[in-house]
Amino acid sequence: MKNVRVRFAPSPTGHLHIGASRTVLFNWLFARSQNGVFILRIEDTDRSRSAVEYEQSIIEDIKWLGLNWDEGPEVGGDYGPYYQSKRGELYKKMAIELLEKELAYRCYCTEDELERNRKGALERGVMPKYDGRCRNLTPEDEQRLISEGRKPTIRFRIPKRKIVVHDLVKGDVEFDSDVIGDFVLIRSDGMASFNFAVVIDDATMKITHVIRGEDHLANSARHILLFEALGYPVPKFAHNSMALGPDHAKLSKRHGATSIGEYRKQGFLPSALVNYLVLLGWSSSDGREIFTPQELIQAFSIDRISKSPAIFDIDKLKWINGQHIRRLPLKKLTSLVLPYLKEAGYIASEPSIEEIAWIEKVVEAVQTNLVTLSDVVKSAKLFFEEKLDYSEDALEILKGEQIPTVLKILKEVLEKEDKIDIDMAKVLLKEVAGRLKMKNIKGKGTYHPIRAALTGRISGPELFYVISVLGKEKCLERIEEAMELV
Ligand code: GLU
Repeated sequence: MKNVRVRFAPSPTGHLHIGASRTVLFNWLFARSQNGVFILRIEDTDRSRSAVEYEQSIIEDIKWLGLNWDEGPEVGGDYGPYYQSKRGELYKKMAIELLEKELAYRCYCTEDELERNRKGALERGVMPKYDGRCRNLTPEDEQRLISEGRKPTIRFRIPKRKIVVHDLVKGDVEFDSDVIGDFVLIRSDGMASFNFAVVIDDATMKITHVIRGEDHLANSARHILLFEALGYPVPKFAHNSMALGPDHAKLSKRHGATSIGEYRKQGFLPSALVNYLVLLGWSSSDGREIFTPQELIQAFSIDRISKSPAIFDIDKLKWINGQHIRRLPLKKLTSLVLPYLKEAGYIASEPSIEEIAWIEKVVEAVQTNLVTLSDVVKSAKLFFEEKLDYSEDALEILKGEQIPTVLKILKEVLEKEDKIDIDMAKVLLKEVAGRLKMKNIKGKGTYHPIRAALTGRISGPELFYVISVLGKEKCLERIEEAMELV
């Protein structure tokens, strides 16, 4: 058996959230960096809140992020089924074993009684916990309660002791079992509770490291007691800190998109999200920030996961996305932006091979200006416009005194050449600059009017790209148009 076995265990009660996606990533990176096994397990014991659409959307998002699993839905494995809803018999069997060993007991309290108990504790200003009134029922007591029509739950008999979670991220965290209270293992409808199912699954799936969000830290104390009661080795724990918004409140909708699917739609790259999400709670030993997933596998180690909360910073995510876009091969980037160009109506749904070749040039021109894939719509617009949509600033520039001279020389120079590729465009621009210099027009005085005339804007792709992608005829047309404005 491989030494390291880890799992990501989402409850399909919502889409894959930024916080949970860090957990899945840390598990995947740890497994891959240790040559271990990564398991996906669906924790759908809460039937009323679980939905198949969420399960599918979570699976789709994990796949889109490029994180493959070795055991779990779709791929199977020796320790299945990988759905908690299909493991009910195992949970019952284990509960009976604990009952037989008197490590668990049946509790006949009704919801009303438990609620009264809770309220009473709150009124007295103490933490509510189960008061243990069914801990020591005699068989006669049980008979009487059953005859009243009560359906029992099965509760864990918590031993009185200190519990230390040896956490790989947080260090040793101590809990007193006194504050925990005997919790439910099997509910009155026969379903296992989360705390019971998760331990049985981790135990029987031979999980070696439980890596999850710190909201489960207190649960881990309960889990340690259960692993011991069931006679299984206790796995190692690593609880990663929460992802917070810039205002240090728990990351939520009001901070913007919170699910991976939303970022996908906005045109973020999976490799950039993976890169960013890892940095949100982990740092490399040399402070490096841009990584491919493969490089992350090489660099990752649990001991560099941060103890303090991670603040989600959309600007950093955008910067990282831009860096990943710059590193994409042109053909790949073109195929990724095509859907956005189609949706914007710039190109036909089935572009020809020649069109695709030209679009590649457009993409090359704007590649360094893209922060997200969807930015292509705005950045590339100038190449697709029939009539330029001049910005105020561009119009202002075109009113300049020397504009007729600049445009006349630009026109003369472009007219000489038939085919203008990138290199030729560079040569021609130099020639224009040289001729204008002799008329004492330099720097901004040269390039701003050229840009304003050819693109209708004051910033954008390098001019040699603009000229070579538009081609001679289109450039001359735009120069004419600008001359008419002057
Ligand atoms: N199903 C739990 C959740 O979504 C995960 C529990 C665990 O990782 O142990 O929060």
